[in-house]
Amino acid sequence: MKTPYLEIDLSKIHDNAKKLIALFKARGIEITGVTKCVLGEPRITNAIVAAGITSLGDSRIQNIVRMKKAHVEALFTLIRTPSASEAHDVVTYADVSFNTELSVIAELSKAALKQKKIHDILLMVEMGDLREGILRHDLGKTIEEALRMKGVRIIGLGTNLACLSGVKPTRHNMDHLSRLADTSEKRYGITLQTISGGNSANFEWLVENNTKSRVNNVRLGEAIFLGRETLSRKHIDGLHLDAITLVAEVIESKVKPSLPEGETGQDAFGNTPIFEDKGEMLRSIVALGKQDVNVPGLVPKSDMDILGSSSDHIILNTTRNPLRVGDQVRFSMDYAALLSSMTSPFVGREFIAGATQPKTSRNKVTLLDH
Ligand SMILES: *Cc1c(COP(=O)(O)O)cnc(C)c1O
Repeated sequence: MKTPYLEIDLSKIHDNAKKLIALFKARGIEITGVTKCVLGEPRITNAIVAAGITSLGDSRIQNIVRMKKAHVEALFTLIRTPSASEAHDVVTYADVSFNTELSVIAELSKAALKQKKIHDILLMVEMGDLREGILRHDLGKTIEEALRMKGVRIIGLGTNLACLSGVKPTRHNMDHLSRLADTSEKRYGITLQTISGGNSANFEWLVENNTKSRVNNVRLGEAIFLGRETLSRKHIDGLHLDAITLVAEVIESKVKPSLPEGETGQDAFGNTPIFEDKGEMLRSIVALGKQDVNVPGLVPKSDMDILGSSSDHIILNTTRNPLRVGDQVRFSMDYAALLSSMTSPFVGREFIAGATQPKTSRNKVTLLDH
């Protein structure tokens, strides 16, 4: 196997999805599996579909197209509010899109009429995190205007928290969203079938809160793929943390001093590094760098420290765990590392336990991918 590569354990991802479905189902909440951090990779997304997830969300229309072409069978939602310029593709490929701007909804409406389709939209409401969202006092006006547009149908409300500002999903803001759904339905005579309360940061709210609310959907990415909730990055009981591992290969391993020789200035990225004299150490270099992965998000799975990195190299102190040229080093990853390494064209993929594909899907097609 050529290095570097991502080792992707499909049965662990499948397990995680199954456990999360059961946990949320007990509270009447359905999961939309968020596939952006795996770029909609069909074998991975099929593993979560096989676990029972029927709704998939992605921030990029290209990833949705990729899944559709590979015959992944699910309801597809575009979870980043679309650009006006992609309205045509959104109507063609996404079953639902999240929206906050009337001018974009107008483009979706035009595209839907042209394609003789009804495009479902879910309106995102600003509940405090200050990323995407319609201000609450503008929600009524937005619904009223959108109801006049043909070809689009409002099917729900949603919110996104804990992304830009770290605002916690709580009983307070979730109940507030529920009340907005109730009042909007009454005032405009509509049915809001989906109330989407948030992402992997909603886990604590779910566990601690047993009052009934209108929230009947959450969108989960990190919890499924990395086994963590995202408010404090706690391990969710019973979930695998090691479903995806990054593997790199040692290309140099030598005992060298810990202090550089000569006068120092800036490094390749404009930082002025500071060194501590720890005497001589075994320094091993792996062929993996900033161009492949967000290095601060990596943790070596065996006893060694990351000393630094450049575009194409990560330098490790492997004194406690001597490595030779050709050895492989395994890293666990945070979300940013997963997202970046999945996106790098230099990082391969190795799938294990591939028996987790849905019986109905035409898997032969997915094998053409990559
Ligand atoms: C990325 C994203 C999610 C999923 O977030 P996780 O932390 O991976 O669960 C949910 N909703 C929206 C709008 C997103 O952009």
